[in-house]
Amino acid sequence: MSLSDINREITCRSALSSSSLSDTELSLNPYAGCGHGCYYCYAPYVTHRSMNPRAKVNIADVLRRELKSGKAYHKTVALSTVTDPYQPLEREYKLTRRCLIELLNYNAYVSVQTKSSLVLRDVDIIKRFERMEVGFTITSLEPFYEPHADPTEKRIETLKELKKEGIRTFVFIGPVMPEFTLQDELFERIREAEPDYVVVDRLRIKKGMEEKIKEIYGKDFSASELEAAAERARDLCAAHGLNLVRQPLWKPHL
Ligand code: SF4
Repeated sequence: MSLSDINREITCRSALSSSSLSDTELSLNPYAGCGHGCYYCYAPYVTHRSMNPRAKVNIADVLRRELKSGKAYHKTVALSTVTDPYQPLEREYKLTRRCLIELLNYNAYVSVQTKSSLVLRDVDIIKRFERMEVGFTITSLEPFYEPHADPTEKRIETLKELKKEGIRTFVFIGPVMPEFTLQDELFERIREAEPDYVVVDRLRIKKGMEEKIKEIYGKDFSASELEAAAERARDLCAAHGLNLVRQPLWKPHL
């Protein structure tokens, strides 16, 4: 084992955590931190931990034990809430894939959300679930503030591929970035991917994030300005015939 492996690998004691939004949902984060590096990510301000990506190398074993104990009975398992389950480390560690296999054995209801076309690698497993959905976060046509995630065009093409495979899909339009998200063309491109539903969420600027948002815009926003931008995004969903769901079915990853 090399020094870089030691820095990238950790172990976990639990796999499934309760969602703060619903008592019928659980979250599963196979990685700590995230390599996508989105400027608006508020995970470090919520978890108070570094976003340096690390693999929870024992998570599939821990998950198997928890599933056997009945922890996920009649609950939705969301991958993920404070990381991207298909971030760059997943190519090597395949922890999300291994967790999906455990969840499939249990016949769990699973909701995956990502910004990476790597999810296509696991279509062979995803297609075997009775209750499964895959969503993509999309915030603009050229999201320079998501430096290491797949380009939006690739996300849209991946959604189309998933649809062709008969997989239920959704788009999480969020956080709504004033100006960058509010473009007719973006909503038209999302419509072409034919997601089963879309969710809109506003930009949430946690304490400590102000400077990052200022790097993008050179100014501050009030909560009411951010809510107004999200409302405009909802109007654009309606104008483009998207099936807008007011509340996410589960807590999305950030
Ligand atoms: S917003 Fe999501 S994809 Fe981006 S860095 Fe945070 S956890 Fe990763």
